[in-house]
Amino acid sequence: MRRLVLVLPVFAVLVSFGIVSCGGFFLEYPMRRSSVYVAVWLKNCSRISWLPRQVSGRYDGASAHDNIKQAAAGLVSKRSSYGTAPGGYVNLDRRMLRAMWVLVKQGYTFRVTSMAGGSHSRSSLHYAGLAFDVDYINGVKVGYGNPYWRKFMARCRELGATETFGPEDRGHSAHIHAAWPR
Ligand SMILES: [Zn+2]
Repeated sequence: MRRLVLVLPVFAVLVSFGIVSCGGFFLEYPMRRSSVYVAVWLKNCSRISWLPRQVSGRYDGASAHDNIKQAAAGLVSKRSSYGTAPGGYVNLDRRMLRAMWVLVKQGYTFRVTSMAGGSHSRSSLHYAGLAFDVDYINGVKVGYGNPYWRKFMARCRELGATETFGPEDRGHSAHIHAAWPR
């Protein structure tokens, strides 16, 4: 019994240090963490899923899943080379990555469909590593009927996003777009 009393707090500390996915102290916010540290945390967090291909269906090494793996490995993230996408590579913006962490801490689960990859509008902030798209929030597809998207978008703006689009905007009936300024 006495041993259990000793072991339990140790286990709790291990869990809170991130042995368990999405771990970390409840009040630990990522503002002092490096991009790589935050990217590793995000990649390992089961409350965020990452589309492993482009929304268009392509596999070009620049999916959201590819991009977060690249960032977590300390590499620049790949851009797509079709449509208006410029090809090449870009670093994912640290403010954007930190915002995703805080969104998880605020209780959201979501799926990211695109970051630096994919083909977007010409000179899209995606190509600068400054934007991410989300098509599921808390297990519900983004659309007018999703009860979470307005608040999710508002949270993104509170976390520094200056460009947000959602179901009320043209071309965004089924996903949220959030982008940070250059
Ligand atoms: Zn977008």
